[in-house]
Amino acid sequence: MSHTLCRSSMLSDPRVWSFLTQVDAAEAETCRKAGCPRCGGVLHSARYPRKPYGLAVALRGDVWRFSFCCAACRGRETPPSVRFFGRRFYVGALFLLVSALALGGGVRLQTIARRSGIPVRTLKRWRRWWQETFPTTPEWRVKRGALAPPPGEAPLRWLLRTMRGHTLRARLLRSLVWLMPWTGSCALGDGRTMSAESVSVMTA
Ligand SMILES: [Zn+2]
Repeated sequence: MSHTLCRSSMLSDPRVWSFLTQVDAAEAETCRKAGCPRCGGVLHSARYPRKPYGLAVALRGDVWRFSFCCAACRGRETPPSVRFFGRRFYVGALFLLVSALALGGGVRLQTIARRSGIPVRTLKRWRRWWQETFPTTPEWRVKRGALAPPPGEAPLRWLLRTMRGHTLRARLLRSLVWLMPWTGSCALGDGRTMSAESVSVMTA
């Protein structure tokens, strides 16, 4: 990508992408071993290719979203991910970074759009999701009870501020792990997702 936001970000660092892929692979394996949450059947790989927007071109080939299909009931299970935030085209790290900027209010959306290459209407949609949808999710109600953010603070800003780490990269990576319950179907509600603070993230 030619714009400064992405060129200077960690999204062009192959070590970061490789780290995120390993986290996803470990989570997928946990999901597979647990079997189908509906019928207990054996899960078979049904991964599918993704073309993640926002990732450096060199890293964009051969990217797969881990996913499973139950051998018995044919149901699909897609594990949580630190690389993809649900079905969004953009990679999770970019979604978080840019959302934090858009929620901050210090930079105009038009400027963020120009620097990131992400359309203003998408930025508005993301901002609305964080402001209106995210606080109403059951996952947030569970997490909020455990961590008690100050009332009134936007969840994403609170998260990026709270996550341990000396660098933005470390805090961002931990935030992605923390947000995994929002990104897949396997771990919803059952607490199987690993704890964000226990993950050793790259500090370089
Ligand atoms: Zn099943």
